[in-house]
Amino acid sequence: MSRFLTEKQKDLIPYTPGEQPKILNLIKLNTNESPYPPAEETVAAAEEEAKRLHLYPDPTCSSLCEAFAKRWGVDADEVIAVNGSDEILNFAFMAFCDETRPVVFPDITYGFYPVFADLNHVPYEEIPLESDLSVNPEKYMGIGKNIFLANPNAPTGIALSADVIEKIVASNPNNLVVIDEAYVDFGAESCIPLIRKYDNLLVTQTFSKSRSMAGARLGFGIGCKELIRDLNTVRYSTNPYNINRMTMAAGIATLKNDDITAKNCKNIIATRKETVAELTRMGFEITDSKANFIFAKHQKIDGKDLYLKLKDRGILVRHFDKKRICQYNRITVGTPEQMKALTDAIKEILEDLT
Ligand code: PMP
Repeated sequence: MSRFLTEKQKDLIPYTPGEQPKILNLIKLNTNESPYPPAEETVAAAEEEAKRLHLYPDPTCSSLCEAFAKRWGVDADEVIAVNGSDEILNFAFMAFCDETRPVVFPDITYGFYPVFADLNHVPYEEIPLESDLSVNPEKYMGIGKNIFLANPNAPTGIALSADVIEKIVASNPNNLVVIDEAYVDFGAESCIPLIRKYDNLLVTQTFSKSRSMAGARLGFGIGCKELIRDLNTVRYSTNPYNINRMTMAAGIATLKNDDITAKNCKNIIATRKETVAELTRMGFEITDSKANFIFAKHQKIDGKDLYLKLKDRGILVRHFDKKRICQYNRITVGTPEQMKALTDAIKEILEDLT
């Protein structure tokens, strides 16, 4: 710590991103990226735009926001483009939460929520998941605090229906409900159709997972015009050029190829189903994931031990050293070949135990 760090930030514990190792030939199943590369048109659009990197990008992101609006059936002023959905989550904390507007989220969820709360000095309460690791919606009804929910939740992958989320939103009319739909395209229901009915609902999504653009950093938020205006005030007050030229062009091109996204999601869902079946046969206990990852534990092997043994074999999964879930590993759904390598490795590891 330097001599200059403020009192305000001296206790901040930063978010720990998944490992991004430089080792080649590693099977990387630890940060929920898409195993499929971006479409050729996406790459070509980014390359073309690279020729104009000497010029600032459009701070209004108008073409991109129009493309988002068209795709999701809303108006362009009901959407904001952000540098990965992490950015809009932070913006939401900055704009709508403070000491007098505290937040709640599940005890097991995306690890960035408590970090953003601490960064912005927002008090928060963690509501325990049920023993089956599901979110109990009753615990959020009329809670009278701002709510952050990942749907599907991470790292469990378990999703609530849009109907149930609507009840939470309707029962908290004076508080903001942020629904983080980073993984919605892998089998859950989006709440975007509800934004015209509820001015206290903000839905966030990302191009990092289903749209193969984790490296470009692109996300967006959809909500009523007033919420979006407030978020843009924060955006213009921090980084008006938050979306670079190449990302903006790549995002627009990706939306033109929505059929490729749909096909990739279908393949990932099919691979998830096959891998879950195979791991279940091996004795794993697995949550009902509607995301592009599987959350699994085995009675015979400690979660951290399995993570380390897979790493020794060149397969990286994500282990969380957190009390309630330390027996589990979160495994990104890769290609069928990657998942075959994973299940073969796990078979060997389990055999070695006996
Ligand atoms: N929400 C959840 C639940 C996530 O798991 C992630 C990915 N780490 C994000 C948001 C942020 O994704 P990105 O910033 O890449 O859009």
